[in-house]
Amino acid sequence: MVIDDEKITYSDWSFTNEIEIDYSKKDICQLCGHKGLKYKYYIRHKTNRDLMIVGSSCILKFSDIIIYSKDGKLISDEKLREKALKDSLNEHLREAALSSLRELYKIKELEIRHLKDYFTDYDNRLNIPRPSQGEREEYQFFKDFESSIISTKENKKLSFEPLFLTQVFKAFHTHGVLYESLAFHISLRTLSAQIDLKGLVKNGSSDFELIKPCLSPTQYKKYVIDSSCHSIIRN
Ligand SMILES: [Zn+2]
Repeated sequence: MVIDDEKITYSDWSFTNEIEIDYSKKDICQLCGHKGLKYKYYIRHKTNRDLMIVGSSCILKFSDIIIYSKDGKLISDEKLREKALKDSLNEHLREAALSSLRELYKIKELEIRHLKDYFTDYDNRLNIPRPSQGEREEYQFFKDFESSIISTKENKKLSFEPLFLTQVFKAFHTHGVLYESLAFHISLRTLSAQIDLKGLVKNGSSDFELIKPCLSPTQYKKYVIDSSCHSIIRN
């Protein structure tokens, strides 16, 4: 039997607003058979409540699949449908990033507590050896790390300065914490962050490769493309 896309209707199906990040990319889109689905979007049949796992492009392609807004209104405009899916993905990515951070925090919790005690004792002038430079840096990292989890505001994207983010990603790797780099963003509000990023780009280091996917297109153009043009001109 030849299935003609044109004749199948999906108006009984609606997007459930659930998206799962599948790090193993094992699933396929149940509408088009596309393999290696990383972001799994769930659609549900209105009467038999069946679920299907599909890719976002299929939800957009089959425009009769229903998408509701947050307040339950039907979205029919093509552009708005696309935006609704994108917004939903960003929300889920943010949640995924937070859960990776929390997982790492859990692994590191005891170590963080020990370091805190040590520094508290040292600050209280107890007779203990002066913390080494490495211990200081580690302590600073953990303090930043803790506050980054605590201070994440509702609905705000997670953005961190470049060096801090490379440290976090390396720690994810060390401890086998799964994470989605696209869920993290790079903050370049301070001059030192901009200088750090330039340094990473210039060295072309593996550290830069780690955080490269997190750059916005504008950041990528300014700090990677344009800055490499400058160095060619200078040479
Ligand atoms: Zn598909």
